[in-house]
Amino acid sequence: MSRVWNFSAGPATLPEEVLKQAAEEMLDWRGKGLSVMEMSHRSPEYTEIFEHAKRGLVDLLSIPETHDVLFMQGGAVGMNAIVPMNLLRGFDAAAFVNTGSWSKKTAKEFAKYGRADVVLSNDADLGQFKAGSYVPDCGALVDSLKSKKYAYLHFCDNETIGGVEFNGQIEQIASQLAFPVVSDMSSNILSRPIDWNCHGLVYGGAQKNIGPAGVTLVVIEKRLLGRSIDHCPSAFEFATVAENGSMYNTPPTYAIYIAGLVFDWLKRKGGVAWAQAEAQRKSALLYKTIDDSQFYTSPVRPEDRSKMNVPFVLADESLNARFLSDAANRGLVQLKGHKSVGGMRASIYNAMPYEGVLALTEFMREFEKEVA
Ligand code: PMP
Repeated sequence: MSRVWNFSAGPATLPEEVLKQAAEEMLDWRGKGLSVMEMSHRSPEYTEIFEHAKRGLVDLLSIPETHDVLFMQGGAVGMNAIVPMNLLRGFDAAAFVNTGSWSKKTAKEFAKYGRADVVLSNDADLGQFKAGSYVPDCGALVDSLKSKKYAYLHFCDNETIGGVEFNGQIEQIASQLAFPVVSDMSSNILSRPIDWNCHGLVYGGAQKNIGPAGVTLVVIEKRLLGRSIDHCPSAFEFATVAENGSMYNTPPTYAIYIAGLVFDWLKRKGGVAWAQAEAQRKSALLYKTIDDSQFYTSPVRPEDRSKMNVPFVLADESLNARFLSDAANRGLVQLKGHKSVGGMRASIYNAMPYEGVLALTEFMREFEKEVA
């Protein structure tokens, strides 16, 4: 068996140890004579698996008693509708920070439910940096939002397509806002600690740092439960899901089981502190390779570069196809940039080992030499 280095943005590479354990337990989970996939979600065996996964996440992210953890479905895109339906009672608008494709999509969907005020955006070029390739300055937000009555302020902590990651600016101002902060952390959750005093709601799809697609994570401040609008579907109502321990209806049982194994793996490695240090080490290596070369360019402002998704372009775009096929021949796959931006993108989530990034940078240097 030979596995490739998979740089997919998601569904993404998973820890090999987790896949092996899942394979071993596939037919017969711990002597019970059945697969996790075949268990009733209400059985004692599955209850143990579920509670273990939930505890794993709570431990890793130090989630306090003030917040509830919900395992839901619908993906982060589903959350673009589910969140407004759950938080809009008594409000007619929310504030949005646009930093790229995903945050834009969120604001657009919100407009079906209320007024989406884009209060800050990176839509205009900033000096040498093009629109979408930097984090806008949040310094003036506190003053400009002072007299506003918004249900919440939404931002996307890591723009998976543009490769732009926040640097804590929103957290720094959160306590001065009169309304809660909602963040999409689909592509960088578990890569850094989260200060829960600053986050009313964090959500994300699982298929990057958590596990397989199919489960959607919601961590919500308990005081925000019970703000849903009348026609919010019960299966998607946070209060109902919370009251029923994420079992109001059948949860994505197998995806949650794998997530639990991923949490165990991450704990063994050293938890979120380890993930953060690794993300720093891996992304620094890749960005240095790009910056040191005459052939590759990162379009993102250096201080706003994502540690999870690294887009880069080749000096000669006509070599893109050859770059991708030569890379694939070396077992380096899924490097093509998102269709909306082109170029290349290497996603280097927690489960991508340093060796994988090293192999990519060695290939990139050789390719540059070859075509020079
Ligand atoms: N937000 C971000 C930041 C994402 O990276 C993605 C998926 N790539 C989504 C939202 C959409 O997630 P899903 O496909 O699970 O709905």
